[in-house]
Amino acid sequence: MQFSLKLDETSLMVLVRERLLALFGPQRDAGRLDPVSQLVNAMLSARTRDTVSVPAFERLAQHYSSWDALADAPPATVEAIIRPVTYAEQKAVHLPQALRMIRARQGGIDLEFLADWDEEMALQWLRGLPGVGPKIAATTLNFSSLRRRVFAVDTHLLRIGARFGLLSPGTKYDEGHDAYARLVPDDWDADDLYEVHWLIKYLGQRICTHAAPACSHCPLRDLCPGRNA
Ligand code: SF4
Repeated sequence: MQFSLKLDETSLMVLVRERLLALFGPQRDAGRLDPVSQLVNAMLSARTRDTVSVPAFERLAQHYSSWDALADAPPATVEAIIRPVTYAEQKAVHLPQALRMIRARQGGIDLEFLADWDEEMALQWLRGLPGVGPKIAATTLNFSSLRRRVFAVDTHLLRIGARFGLLSPGTKYDEGHDAYARLVPDDWDADDLYEVHWLIKYLGQRICTHAAPACSHCPLRDLCPGRNA
């Protein structure tokens, strides 16, 4: 792979983080959801803007006294509560199904047991739940109070990784997750991965957008082989 500066890829990630920190500031969370709540939140947010999914999560949490109650809820009722999230009809089926599966396997709707599991095993376990793909599994482990050392990759990270030459165009979430996981320094902990995820995501939302990357305003332009002339 070619970069404008001669850096190994891990050094490049360190430099990317420094530059984005200077632009967006530290991304350290004030509070974390428990892992089941984060799972529900992540399922609602799939392909949906936070401005839509967060209110939907709050409506669900207000309507149901517990996640057990949501597990036993009819999909039509759930759908009416979570609309207008994307794929509301599917999510209204998958959410109760996933919660029932956790309850059936663990004897209760609780994911704290994943705190002690190997990260790859924990990812695979979560991905066995209905409607749970690699991104939802990763954010459940990394963004929740579990704080597991898992790098969550979303569409912004895939796009920027490809423009940067770190990923092939069309890379899927699984491969993207593995590729980013190889690039990050060994001494970055779960909070560091959380921070870098958000820094790159903000770059994707505000500068390196899908439609029109604003390379002239990008703090990474001297590093990026995909920059516009
Ligand atoms: S230089 Fe352009 S293509 Fe490269 S990361 Fe920045 S905005 Fe994206």
